[in-house]
Amino acid sequence: ECKKLGAAHHLVFTEGLQARLQRETRVENGLQQALRNNEFELHYQPIVDLESREIVGVEALVRWRLSTGELIMPNEFIGEAARVGLTAQLGEWVLEEACSQLREWLDLGYDLTMSVNISPRHLRHVEFEQKVIDLLAQYDLPLGSLILELTEEVFVDSGVASFYSLNALRNLGVKIAIDDFGTGYSSMRYLKTLPIDRIKIDRCFVSEDNVEQLSDPMITQAIIFLCSGLHFDLVAEGIESEAQAKHLYQQGCRKGQGYWFSKPLMKQDINALLAKKEASVAG
Ligand code: C2E
Ligand code: MG
Ligand code: MG
Ligand code: MG
Repeated sequence: ECKKLGAAHHLVFTEGLQARLQRETRVENGLQQALRNNEFELHYQPIVDLESREIVGVEALVRWRLSTGELIMPNEFIGEAARVGLTAQLGEWVLEEACSQLREWLDLGYDLTMSVNISPRHLRHVEFEQKVIDLLAQYDLPLGSLILELTEEVFVDSGVASFYSLNALRNLGVKIAIDDFGTGYSSMRYLKTLPIDRIKIDRCFVSEDNVEQLSDPMITQAIIFLCSGLHFDLVAEGIESEAQAKHLYQQGCRKGQGYWFSKPLMKQDINALLAKKEASVAG
């Protein structure tokens, strides 16, 4: 499916095997040191109200900045971080940085949500729940302003303890989103029984080379119908054209994210976007 093709495909055809192996070794050796040296940074991608085109939130996306200035993308080191036992440490750094940045934007008067991707392993970590609780207090975050993005696998694999954690956090006003919806294994039953506030429709169903259409209009339409019927907050990922944005809105999806509105940006660039009079983007 589109996710698998995406990253692997790109690697194979844009660089030789040799270069790729070299980079993988570098990734392996460098992660621990990178954490110590503070080499990670968060970029933020706007999430937009498809009607007003205002920025209603951002998603934090981690990157690794090498001393050469080169930027390494998460798909190239998240898995590796797991293999070398650094998932929780990296995840905690991301959470803290995201909460601190959210506080900064709230203090500037911007009413935003902050979405943070949580890996299954981090969710299962014994200190996960307490860490989130501490951050909510430390940064005095308003109810509903922090959104945790989890993939469908989490709900299938993670076991009872994770559900208790998620429920507890939800009772404290943290929102839970299913990321990449439609690509995993979740059954319809989960949608009714799990602690979920938001569904993010995977970009598989949204973007295509042909930007004039949705890649799977019937599937997209069915997901929107199902999720709005169940009163989930819906976000379409990977919107790359005005045509797609319009279609999604017409079908009942109220929020979107994608290159058409903005790529993930460094915080200074988000500041500049927010400072523009209407804080609204394309369209
Ligand atoms: P995701 O959470 O589904 O994030 C969306 C990804 O799609 C991002 O890639 C984003 O740059 C990309 N994207 C956004 N709009 C468009 C578009 O219009 N077209 C296309 N082709 N792509 C678009 P990125 O930043 O490379 O992140 C990839 C994945 O890595 C994320 O997918 C997420 O699963 C994971 N990830 C990123 N940051 C973190 C993190 O801090 N912690 C964890 N655990 N995972 C992370
Ligand atoms: Mg995400
Ligand atoms: Mg996603
Ligand atoms: Mg995705």
